[in-house]
Amino acid sequence: MKRSADVVIVGGGCMGASVAYHLTRRGVTDVVLLEREKLLATGSTGRNAGGVRHQFSNAANIRLSIESINLLERFADDVGQTIDFHQDGYLFLLSTDASVDTFRRNVALQRSLGVDVDWLDATAAAQAAPGLQTDGVLGATFCRRDGVADPNGVTMGFAKAAQAAGATIERDVEVTGIRVSGGRITGVETSKGAIDTPVVVNAAGPHARQIGRMAGVDVPVDPYRRHIFIAQAPPGSAHWRVPASRVLVIDFESTFYFHREGAGLLFGMGDKNETPTFDTTVQWDFLPQVIDVAVKRLPALADASISHAWAGLYEVTPDANPIIGAAAGVDGFFLINGFSGHGFQHSPAAGRILADVIAGRDPQFDLTPFAPARFAGAGAATGEKYMV
Ligand SMILES: Cc1cc2nc3c(=O)[nH]c(=O)nc-3n(C[C@H](O)[C@H](O)[C@H](O)COP(=O)(O)OP(=O)(O)OC[C@H]3O[C@@H](n4cnc5c(N)ncnc54)[C@H](O)[C@@H]3O)c2cc1C
Repeated sequence: MKRSADVVIVGGGCMGASVAYHLTRRGVTDVVLLEREKLLATGSTGRNAGGVRHQFSNAANIRLSIESINLLERFADDVGQTIDFHQDGYLFLLSTDASVDTFRRNVALQRSLGVDVDWLDATAAAQAAPGLQTDGVLGATFCRRDGVADPNGVTMGFAKAAQAAGATIERDVEVTGIRVSGGRITGVETSKGAIDTPVVVNAAGPHARQIGRMAGVDVPVDPYRRHIFIAQAPPGSAHWRVPASRVLVIDFESTFYFHREGAGLLFGMGDKNETPTFDTTVQWDFLPQVIDVAVKRLPALADASISHAWAGLYEVTPDANPIIGAAAGVDGFFLINGFSGHGFQHSPAAGRILADVIAGRDPQFDLTPFAPARFAGAGAATGEKYMV
């Protein structure tokens, strides 16, 4: 293993791989990415639903989406990897007057930034996702350039392109300590020896707080378990009443969501009673709660069998906005953490922005809403409201 590098990245999920890729594009190629698992993208990245949307409630997240989706659309050409990107749209269903008001304001914001979002009534929403039951739906929003993509493909695309440009990727290596001297990063300690470096990037997803502590920095990210269930089409059923496209439907009040996954259906829902945990054991007793909500919106699910399920961790900040930038108090320590359930889709832009910051370039992006220091002030009031 290399014993020195210009930059060490901790974590081989979509964030770490994106930072590595974008650093190499800026001429910073003496980069070592360390992943403690035997494979990349086995943390949150490998367990996510693949959803990609422009529809957020604050301008900074919408801007991250615009840039990220532009890159995802040209990913095969620019990065050299196919990513199974289906832009069949995201449909948000709204059932309370308060949500309708909020979404009307946010659609105006999204449109003001150039995003083409439609406002639908319940009938049009049902047409956008055949099989959907829209009882109680007061309105819906739909953006046809939203969609689903392959998180593993995106991560491997970034990682392979970074490697081809000179970056080193080490799997099965755990970072066990960060060396700081005189307020500056000087290196990392790992399960396979130390590496001298002036720059460390914390891209450890739900483990960001633990990596932060190694450098004496509090990174306010908590892990929350989220489940995904896979339903199989009933045998012999050519007319299963679910959308043929991969439109991603979200029932905003319950947070139940689904999209087609091969011949079956992927679905999930937030658990309002979940407290921070690193436990990713599937709680099968949560499934009946999800099914209760799910069959009201998509009755065809009642005929399906659940073939498998998994749980992963959201990396959640107090205001559900990410943390991107230099950590206060330790020179050379950079954070790309806390994406609160939407990190996969924002990894292309977030990695580009942090690479610019590290390389000393102007990232051309107002990072105030994502500033690591914001939690000392009133940042929580302006955070992201569409955490699903
Ligand atoms: C069920 C679920 C559904 C989701 N759906 C979506 C979605 O539809 N769209 C979306 O955009 N996002 C979604 N997300 C969120 C998204 O998956 C995350 O925001 C994103 O994957 C975070 O990427 P990351 O690279 O920061 O973290 P990770 O993928 O967790 O990568 C961090 C890596 O750091 C490694 N690591 C940790 N500690 C150490 C150490 N000490 N030494 C070395 N390596 C270490 C870990 O092994 C891990 O591989 C979902 C998440 C879950 C759980």
